[in-house]
Amino acid sequence: MVNRKPYQLVSREWKKEDTTFEIKGVCIGKDLVMIAGPCAVENREQIFTISEYLSKLNIKFLRGGAYKPRTSPYSFQGLKTEGLQLLREAGDKYGLAVVSEIMGLDKIEEFCEYADILQVGTRNMQNYPLLKGLGKSGKPVLLKRGMSSTIEEWLLAAEYIISSGNDRVILCERGIRTFETATRNTIDIAAIPLVKLLSHLPVILDPSQGTGLRDLVKPISLAAIAAGADGLIIEVHNQPEEALSDGDQSLYLDQFSDLLPNLRAQAHLRKKHFDFEASYEFSNLS
Ligand code: PEP
Ligand code: MN
Repeated sequence: MVNRKPYQLVSREWKKEDTTFEIKGVCIGKDLVMIAGPCAVENREQIFTISEYLSKLNIKFLRGGAYKPRTSPYSFQGLKTEGLQLLREAGDKYGLAVVSEIMGLDKIEEFCEYADILQVGTRNMQNYPLLKGLGKSGKPVLLKRGMSSTIEEWLLAAEYIISSGNDRVILCERGIRTFETATRNTIDIAAIPLVKLLSHLPVILDPSQGTGLRDLVKPISLAAIAAGADGLIIEVHNQPEEALSDGDQSLYLDQFSDLLPNLRAQAHLRKKHFDFEASYEFSNLS
């Protein structure tokens, strides 16, 4: 059959079965993957407190920005190498895989040393030299959708990574820019089932950057799983009021654990394996 899509390797026409790969005993693309942690690594106490909490909930993936792409050059830019080292130490201590955003091609070696999944942020989705470099890195890549990118452009960005030799790519919807300003971005929920039809790659949602408001994280997370998402990446902080970035959209620790029974029920309906510590009492759902 002739493949008429501009992307080839990422398409369902090319490969019918879902792409799956295992990290920390979680089968990404099949099980429900949960990546949680602060927007940015701020200090040792913060990242260790959050990591310990997540590990008690049996979460396996820790997120945290070490190099932060901030709109203003005067905002906190991240702890850089020290941030990556703290993530690695906390990840090793609490049995968590480390997910962190890489902004430049020159940092691939450093990220390969400290992180397990390399995140490409919305602002870098079309940084083609970086995508090609990540294709050769051998590390799984979490590819955010560009805030002004079409689904086709997003899938073509993934094509850059796969055609450069790396098929361990996770796509992440994180909202796009529209005229609406009441939420930080507009989550394109339809993109989730559509991309699942067009591509064999796992698709997750970031409800934190997507909404900008912590009270919306739970309903939108549930909607994403119902729509077919393979997982979520959620910002969680031990003291969101004190956070150096994205405090308003970061969940309190107990708010995060309260989300889990609800997600479990939704994952169950979709036959997604879910092994986080969450009470299975349906009466606890809210
Ligand atoms: C983030 O995850 O903190 C982040 C900056 O994400 P995005 O690239 O989606 O804005
Ligand atoms: Mn953030």
